[in-house]
Amino acid sequence: MEQDDLFSPPERIAGLRSLAYDLSWTWHQNAREVFRHLDYALWRFTEHNPVRMLSMVSRERFSEAAQERSFLALYDAAIEYLDRARTAKDTWWSVRFPDLSTRPVAYFSAEFALHQSLPIYAGGLGVLAGDLCKEASDLGIPLVGVGFMYPQGYFHQRISSAHWQEETYERLNWDQAPVERLTDGSRPRLVLVPLGTRQVYVSVWIVRLGRVSLFLLDTDLEENAPEDRELSARLYGGDRQMRLQQEIILGIGGVRVLRGLGYDPMIWHLNEGHTAFLVLERIREALELGESFEAALKTVRSSTVFTTHTPVAAGHDAFPLHMVEAQLAGLSGAFKQHQTDILELGRYDNGDGSLFNMTTLALRTTGAINAVSQLHGSVTREMWAPIWSDLPGGARTIKVVTNGIHVPSWIAPNLARLFDRHLGKEWLNHHDETDLWEDIFNIPDEELWAVRQELRSYLIAFMRERARQLWAEEKVSSSRIVAAGTLLDPSALTIGFARRFTGYKRPDLVFHNPERLARILTAPRRPVQIIFAGKAHPADEDGKRIVHETYKRAVDPSFGGRIAFMEDYDLHVAHFLVQGCDVWLNTPQRPYEASGTSGMKASINGGIHLSVGDGWWAEGYTGFNGWLIEGSADDDPSMTNATEAEALYRLLEVEIVPAFYDRDTNGIPTRWLRIAKEAIRTVMPRFSARRMIKQYAEEMYEPAARLAASSSPLRTTIG
Ligand SMILES: *Cc1c(COP(=O)(O)O)cnc(C)c1O
Repeated sequence: MEQDDLFSPPERIAGLRSLAYDLSWTWHQNAREVFRHLDYALWRFTEHNPVRMLSMVSRERFSEAAQERSFLALYDAAIEYLDRARTAKDTWWSVRFPDLSTRPVAYFSAEFALHQSLPIYAGGLGVLAGDLCKEASDLGIPLVGVGFMYPQGYFHQRISSAHWQEETYERLNWDQAPVERLTDGSRPRLVLVPLGTRQVYVSVWIVRLGRVSLFLLDTDLEENAPEDRELSARLYGGDRQMRLQQEIILGIGGVRVLRGLGYDPMIWHLNEGHTAFLVLERIREALELGESFEAALKTVRSSTVFTTHTPVAAGHDAFPLHMVEAQLAGLSGAFKQHQTDILELGRYDNGDGSLFNMTTLALRTTGAINAVSQLHGSVTREMWAPIWSDLPGGARTIKVVTNGIHVPSWIAPNLARLFDRHLGKEWLNHHDETDLWEDIFNIPDEELWAVRQELRSYLIAFMRERARQLWAEEKVSSSRIVAAGTLLDPSALTIGFARRFTGYKRPDLVFHNPERLARILTAPRRPVQIIFAGKAHPADEDGKRIVHETYKRAVDPSFGGRIAFMEDYDLHVAHFLVQGCDVWLNTPQRPYEASGTSGMKASINGGIHLSVGDGWWAEGYTGFNGWLIEGSADDDPSMTNATEAEALYRLLEVEIVPAFYDRDTNGIPTRWLRIAKEAIRTVMPRFSARRMIKQYAEEMYEPAARLAASSSPLRTTIG
C-alpha cells in the first residue's frame, strides 16, 4: 500500500518532513510525541521510523491533524526545538571556546549506531560513536561525522529450528531511511578514490543530527565495476582485501569528501584504527604543498586525535605490507616517492611477522591518544610497549577518557517524567552535575518502584508480542515460543545479559553449575529469570557455538521457562532491555572489556549492575551502587571461571534475591531501591556522554587545535 498512495502533509504541518529527516527527534521527547500522536498504530508498526511512517499516513489523517489544536501545539513546539537544536548561539562550546567555533572537528568511524532504521552498526563501537555525535549536537560542538553507508547493513539474526544462529541481509530501502544523497543538480555528487591501479567512484549520503551532520560514503554506483559496487555493501563482511579496500575508501575518500564540501577541520578524530588511512591522505596533501615528509607528519600529528578501543593485540586490523602497497599504488606524485616511509608508519610485528597494523599507523601519526577506561589505559600502555620508543612522550601520551552514554537517548520516558517532578524540569540540561543527583533520595520509594515495575512489564509485553509474531508468521515450534519469552513473569526478578556473543564476554559463565543456577531460578516464591540477547559475528565460530548453547538452555525444561533468548539484538531491543531489567549481568574475562557501556545504560534507569571489575566498572563501582563479582588472579582460565561463577552464585543467593524479595508492609523493597538510587546518583553524571565529550573537548581537541594553529603555516591554504 505504501508506495501507491504517497501523500504530502498539508502546508501547515509541512515541517514534519524536516522533523523526520533529522534524527534529533530520537532524543527529543516533544518530537517523539508528534509522531506518536500523528498515528500511534503506524508508529508502532514501523518500529518508530517516521520516514517510513510519513509515507503511509492517509490523506484524511494529515488534513485532520492539520486542524487539531493539541496536535498543532506539539508540532509547533517540536519545530521550534529543532530550529534551536540546529542554530542556538549560546551553546556550551561557544561559551567555553568562543574563538574555536568556525572550523569543525571531523570524527571518523567505521560504524555509527543512531537508530534501528539505519542498520550501519554492529555493536558497542557504533553506539559510542552515535552517542558522541548526539551529545556533540547538544553541546554545540562543531562536529561532522564521516562513516560508511552499508546498503545491506549488519545482518539480522534468526535462530534455526536446530538452535543455530542464521544470518540474513536485507537491502536497505533508501526511501524508508533517514538519509539523503548529496547531489550536484540531478546527479549524485561523486568523489574519486584510487584503489590499486583503478579509480573508484564514491557518493555521499547525509544524516542530520541537529547541529551535527554525518556523511556516509557509498560505492554502489553504476559508474563502478561490480566488485567495487559491493565494497560498501556490508559492515564487517568480506575478506582481508575487501576490508582493506573499505578502510582506504573511508579514510582517503572521507578526507576528499570533506574537502569537496569545503570543510577545513581543525581537528581530525579517529575512532579506532579502521579510520587511520585518513592520515595518509593528509600527509599526501601536505607533501603536494611542498612540505618535507617530516614536516608533513608533524602537521598531521598536531591536529589529529586517536581513540583506541581494543585491549587484545590480535583484535587490531593488520594487513600484509605488499597488499597495502598494491592498494595504495594509485596515489602518485610526492606520495609515491615516500612509499617506504609510509609503509614504515604501519609496520608492526605482532609475533606473526611484519604486517601493516592500523593501530600502529594511528599511534605513530597522532598527537593525542586515549584509551576508554582507566584499566584499559594501563593495558594499552603495556600492550604497545615495543613502539613507545618511536614516539615523543612514549607511553605517557596515552590519556584516558572513559566512555559514556547519551543520557537523553537512553533514559526511559517514565523515569524522565519522575525526575521532572522531583528534580525540576531542567534536570536533563544539568545531568552531568553531581550535586543535582544528591536529590535522588527525595524521590519516594513507592514512586520509583512503580516506574521500575512498569518498565519491566513493558519489556515482557514487548517480548511476548515478538513471540506471538514468530508463532503466527513463521509457525515456529512451541519450544521456540517459550525461548522467546512467553513464560516470563512480569513481577519476577529479571536479569538481563545482552551484548555481542563472543568468547571473552563469557555469556556462558552463569551456566557454570547448571543445577545450582536452576535452583536459584526456580525457587518457589522467589523466582528469577534471565533474558539473553546478542549476535555472534558471522566469522566467530566460538561465538556462534555460545549462542547455540545459550539457546538450548532457554528451551531446556529444567530451567522452568525462566530463561529467554531474544533474537536479533539491535538498538530497539536494547532500549527495552536496559530499561526493563532489574539486574544487568556482565561477566567478561578481565581485562578484555575495554569499557563496556550497556551497564551504564541500565544503571541510569535504576537497573543494578552485577559485574566483574573490568572496563568501566573497575572505576565505577563504589561499594554501594551495584555488585562486584570478585575476580580471581588465577592464570588458568578454567580456575578463574570456577571462582568467578562461585562468586556470582553467592551474590545471587545471599544478596540479590533477598534484597529484591524482602518487602516492607507496603510491598516495597527498600534495600533494593537504595542501591538503585545509588546507581543513578553515581553513574548518571560520571558516565554520561556529556562528561565524556567535555573531556575530549578540554583535554584533547582544544590543546590540539591551539598546537596545530601555532605549528602549521601552510594549513590555511588548503580547502
Ligand atoms: C550499548 C549497546 C552495545 C554495547 O554493549 P556492551 O555491553 O558495552 O558490549 C551493543 N549493542 C547495542 C545494540 C547496544 O545498545
